[in-house]
Amino acid sequence: MNSELEELYQEVILDHARKPRNFGDLPDASVRVHGDNPSCGDEIHLAVKFGKEGQLENLMFTGHGCAISQASASLMTMKLKGKSREETDKMVRAFHDLITEGKTPPSGSFGDLQLMAGVRKFPQRVKCAMLAWRAMEQALQQANGEANISTEVET
Ligand code: ZN
Repeated sequence: MNSELEELYQEVILDHARKPRNFGDLPDASVRVHGDNPSCGDEIHLAVKFGKEGQLENLMFTGHGCAISQASASLMTMKLKGKSREETDKMVRAFHDLITEGKTPPSGSFGDLQLMAGVRKFPQRVKCAMLAWRAMEQALQQANGEANISTEVET
């Protein structure tokens, strides 16, 4: 990664960490997942409303923790809003491959999410970046209700 890209990476991450998008409660959520990353102290509360066709009609989050965990959640909510379950499932896998192996997603661009690829240089941060996505994975597995996940337990 050249220094220009590294700067951009930091800028985008910090911007999302300071001013997270889709941050707040979703009163009519179908599913709520609480995600916990004890190794860093990050927490995410993800609320998802599924539409009639099962698509992600809306999603919002609250949480606290390191910049990577919060920025990843913010970027994720922007990227996944309106996506089908199938697309979301593919995105979760593709994001994991991106931040662990630097693999570019097969279908099109990740947009700003692509910048999270820098995380692979800091293996201890992978759990931080994956937290919101693990919560999303869990949300997909439930039609409704609430759940808890932890990065310390394989899901
Ligand atoms: Zn963290």
